[in-house]
Amino acid sequence: MNTDHNSGELKLELITKGVRLDRSALSSKEIVRALDIANQVHNPLELDLILPGKVLVNIAIQECLDKETNYRLIKEAEDFFVVNKDLKVKVYLEPPPKFYDQLTTSGKIMAKVGRKYGDYLLVTPTGACEFLSGDMACKYCDVDAKNTDDKSVQDVLETIEAASAEGAAEFVCINVGYISSDDGGISMVLPFVKEIKKNFDVLICVQAQPPKTDEWIDLTYASGIDSLAYNLEVYDEEIFNKIAPGKMSLVGRDRYFQALARAAKVFPSGAIVSNLIVGLEPVESTFKGIDILTAMGVVPTLPIFRPVPGSDLESHIDLTPESLSPIYVHLQNALKRNRLSSSWISHFNVVVNAIDAHYFGGEAPVKRQWPTVLKSKKRSKLALNLRRRLRVRTAEDNESTGL
Ligand code: SF4
Repeated sequence: MNTDHNSGELKLELITKGVRLDRSALSSKEIVRALDIANQVHNPLELDLILPGKVLVNIAIQECLDKETNYRLIKEAEDFFVVNKDLKVKVYLEPPPKFYDQLTTSGKIMAKVGRKYGDYLLVTPTGACEFLSGDMACKYCDVDAKNTDDKSVQDVLETIEAASAEGAAEFVCINVGYISSDDGGISMVLPFVKEIKKNFDVLICVQAQPPKTDEWIDLTYASGIDSLAYNLEVYDEEIFNKIAPGKMSLVGRDRYFQALARAAKVFPSGAIVSNLIVGLEPVESTFKGIDILTAMGVVPTLPIFRPVPGSDLESHIDLTPESLSPIYVHLQNALKRNRLSSSWISHFNVVVNAIDAHYFGGEAPVKRQWPTVLKSKKRSKLALNLRRRLRVRTAEDNESTGL
């Protein structure tokens, strides 16, 4: 059995094809607990594996992405392995965090309040995105998983407290679907941001839809949010209109570009991101999207399209390492050309990043940069707040003088 492998290629294979659980893995205490939590929160089972080279990958189990997948997760003695007929690779299975099955004082299971993705704790404080009730859902959206209850600030604080007590996450990512208001939902997020910043020394990113006017973007930065995502999802206009009917008719593709450009002027370099889902459009279109976003100062995040069961969406490209790998090298080169750091998103486990590009012939990654960011915030919160105000003022001044 061959133990030689390329961790970047294996990550791509596992993301696109999924893994079947062998009986030996299924009966392990880690998987039994993960299944129990997935059932309690009515979400498909996902597992985090760490491949050799510290390559983190989030794999889908229950959706069975590729019925023919040859990859199996097996357990021998205390160790897990990913195997197929030619390969046997020892992996580390991250057990579900302990806080997942704790309850908040209001009785909510914490796995429903915050989900760990790599180093991020993802919180969706509002109920369902309004696109979902208006028949305007994005076609790639996993609607059931996103149909969540409202959470109180207290629920979120208690969950962050429990997660940080076990060192489960470095960042808090607040996710907002579509809310029909001029501010893109940012006012609803602010009480959460204020209390999180007051109680924890943690970096916060927000994923939202662009607000109607730029003042809300300035306020977003001034409020203490460290990183912001307005997700375009695809660059191709025709495909965007087809797969994101709500975004197309109620926000407009142009507004995504305008808002991203403004945010990139206001926030520090590398803090503004936007998804381009790999596979939902031809590869040339993804290349174009990467070039245009990076030239604007926006870091593209490249999740790989995973078919949602029951959806009629199909991939435009072969989801194989051979066709996917040039995309990550292209991303790495574009980030370098535009002097952008991808450190904010490098440790998000559901995407392949520029940091993985060296597995496909790109350059070796620079060392992780975010702990430095974290330390400098700790050292100089006052200076950062001052810079925050100055940066908003500078962007406003440039705007008014047409620069
Ligand atoms: S914005 Fe689109 S992807 Fe996000 S929750 Fe709403 S429908 Fe789903």
